[in-house]
Amino acid sequence: MIYIQSLTKSELADLLLPLSRVKGRDLDEEEFAKKAKKQAAYRAQQIFHWVYQRFVTDFEQMSDLSKDLRAWLVLNVEVYRLTERVSNQALDGTHKFLWTLHDQKTIESVIIPAALQEKGGKDAIARLSGQDLAPIETDEEEELMQAGVRFSGAKTEEKVDSAKWKRLTACISSQVGCAMACKFCLTGIQGIDRSLETHEIVTQVLELRRRSPITNIVFMGMGEPLKNLPNVAKACQIMLDQDGMSFSKRKITISTSGLVPQIEELGRLVDVSLAISLNATTDEQRSEIMPVNRKWNIEMLLNACRNYPLGPHRRITFEYVMLKGFNDSMEDAARLVKLTRGIPSKINLIPFNEHSGADYKRPTDERVKEFQSYLTERKITATVRISRGRDISAACGQLRSIFGTARGTEKHKDWKELPVIQPGHVSSGQGA
Ligand code: SAH
Ligand code: SF4
Repeated sequence: MIYIQSLTKSELADLLLPLSRVKGRDLDEEEFAKKAKKQAAYRAQQIFHWVYQRFVTDFEQMSDLSKDLRAWLVLNVEVYRLTERVSNQALDGTHKFLWTLHDQKTIESVIIPAALQEKGGKDAIARLSGQDLAPIETDEEEELMQAGVRFSGAKTEEKVDSAKWKRLTACISSQVGCAMACKFCLTGIQGIDRSLETHEIVTQVLELRRRSPITNIVFMGMGEPLKNLPNVAKACQIMLDQDGMSFSKRKITISTSGLVPQIEELGRLVDVSLAISLNATTDEQRSEIMPVNRKWNIEMLLNACRNYPLGPHRRITFEYVMLKGFNDSMEDAARLVKLTRGIPSKINLIPFNEHSGADYKRPTDERVKEFQSYLTERKITATVRISRGRDISAACGQLRSIFGTARGTEKHKDWKELPVIQPGHVSSGQGA
């Protein structure tokens, strides 16, 4: 059985080619082959519409396909589904999902809402969060980055209706766990189990889209996407397909800890946005928290960024997790300015989301603001992303760890902080 979500549209057309029924006795061999190819491509397009735009999983319901083709598809192809194990919605609208794969392993995806549709959206967000936010910029891409603004102190019981949001970002996983062992990251502490197959990556977005009209995708869930580059690149190709999910290249962002050769390869394989988890400003500091830096240091990483084929008006995002007393000094800010100079980029400051797997602390809000101001005063675009959905443990790797599915990991001590789980709680029918 082949999963439909593991195939690009042209691979599906190739698979359907032997089934083409071309009429016309007078056709020569070349014309016959050309017509058969065209027919297979058309069928693939129709199937893509059914699966990715109408969310149909039963081939028998694909009414514009021939009876024979439907019967063949039923026997040979399957629409992959993820089983929703847990779904939790935070007070700020962040919605987290824990999925069970067919081999019983679990992965996480999160829907992060941003920028309210209605006028005065900023006020509404601030009201929900009970805190002031970094200024919302009008630039489309800046708004995407706002998708991570943290609402740690939600003061109201009000739930956020996803229909109100202008942007719904799907944060998806590329691996079960992660091998990169970043010291501050719960997924990294859990270690790697396996990489995800293409269909498992694509299906996360498909399942989320069944529930909400997702507008953006970020590979910032579990795993290092560039350690699984062939499957991630193919998944992106499927998500970009105009007959499928039809995301634009600006709306898909791959975030990496800095695998230099794969950054170069990514640039050759697929045109999407790139985010780099820089997280430190000296090699000594970065190697301490991110072992990948011992192989590919900051200079090598930034050179790869300089050579990355960025389209016009596009920028690389540098993510910078702020760890109190470790990388949050004004000297760090000054080095950050120097390091990123000349690279079309923006900086996304992420105050550390504390968890029981690491001793690091989050800097004070004042320090974060000071750090941000230092950058913005030097004409650097710097947004603050404060991790969201804290009341549902929405940070990378947290939900999975709580449910005790990580290799050899005991149940997370935050277990009791979880609210009552409401499986199937999300409303359907809002899908694109
Ligand atoms: N492996 C990829 C993508 C997943 S991690 C990468 O490292 O880029 C996505 C982002 O979450 C990274 O920028 C990482 O630095 C950040 N992150 C991980 N754990 C975090 C934590 N506890 N608090 C804040 N940010 C964290
Ligand atoms: Fe892996 Fe990214 Fe976590 Fe590092 S920060 S361990 S690369 S998921």
